[in-house]
Amino acid sequence: MGSIKSTGKAIDISVVVPCYNEQGALPFYYDKMKEVMALLPELSFEIIIVDDGSTDGTLETAKQLAKSDDRIRYISFSRNFGKEAAMYAGLKNASGKYTAIMDADLQDPPEMLPEMYRVITEEGYDAVGTRRVTRKGEPPVRSFFARKFYKIMSRISKANMVDGARDYRLMNRKYVDALLSLGEYNRFSKGLFGWVGFKVKWLEFENVNRIAGETKWSFGQLFLYSLDGIVAFSNVPLYMASIAGIGSFIAAIAAMIFIIVRRLVFGDPVAGWASTVVIILFIGGIQLLSIGILGLYLSKLYLEAKNRPIYLLDETNIKDAR
Ligand code: UDP
Ligand code: MG
Repeated sequence: MGSIKSTGKAIDISVVVPCYNEQGALPFYYDKMKEVMALLPELSFEIIIVDDGSTDGTLETAKQLAKSDDRIRYISFSRNFGKEAAMYAGLKNASGKYTAIMDADLQDPPEMLPEMYRVITEEGYDAVGTRRVTRKGEPPVRSFFARKFYKIMSRISKANMVDGARDYRLMNRKYVDALLSLGEYNRFSKGLFGWVGFKVKWLEFENVNRIAGETKWSFGQLFLYSLDGIVAFSNVPLYMASIAGIGSFIAAIAAMIFIIVRRLVFGDPVAGWASTVVIILFIGGIQLLSIGILGLYLSKLYLEAKNRPIYLLDETNIKDAR
């Protein structure tokens, strides 16, 4: 392990970099960040590399960088806990007056940082977010579903999520502390950012492809992640299940009246086998769907109730790392 760093002089900007198997991208990222930090010579920086249980040489690379540059801090996890956990750990250990979150693959352009800093210090915002205005280089199906997700989310949830918003943002202390006060286990940052509120300005940029390595997200994972987001920030699916229940109850009462009246007026010829089957299937379907929705919420509640830590630390060069 490298030498333990004390937080001697006050840090102006902390940059949190969640890394999962980013051995290939990290050196490029560091070179770029060096240039960016040189553009702001009056500011002191720390770069917190959070190694999220990588199986490649990410941690070794981070240690190597830390040896040659005392602005580099690293934290490693005992296993892969996911980007949400990595961001949370980084924020917890960031000591800067301002804190940024940035991907290691250069898809969040570091060269935007000076402008973000200018906005946050001069225009009186609490956070500066970034959003991609194009999704070029991304599979069309993925873009389509991503757009749909933001549309649906904006209708069923109060956490106002911006289409194309990245996790890349610069925040002041007040904003970071607000985020940290949300200690939930099921973290969905895009929602948490929206939930805390404050004054946020959005900067836009064109999508860039990753510099090295590959994306950690398959389509299926993204789909489940979006369900997590919905469950975490909206009760609408539960209401929908209840409304479907009420709807089929009303339909059942109406059908019952209809059948009784028909029996009294026309007698009772045996008919309607097909409609009976359809009705049974319909009700059965609604029941299964509703139980499924209920189960989703219950499973989240279960995980939340266990109150397990969001991540477990392994190695670090931060003094009093949390
Ligand atoms: N990441 C992480 N833990 C994970 C998955 C990803 O820390 O379990 C990091 C990854 O190293 C990268 C960032 O999160 O810095 C974004 O991941 P990726 O580039 O794979 O996502 P995409 O940009 O394709 O949405
Ligand atoms: Mg990426």
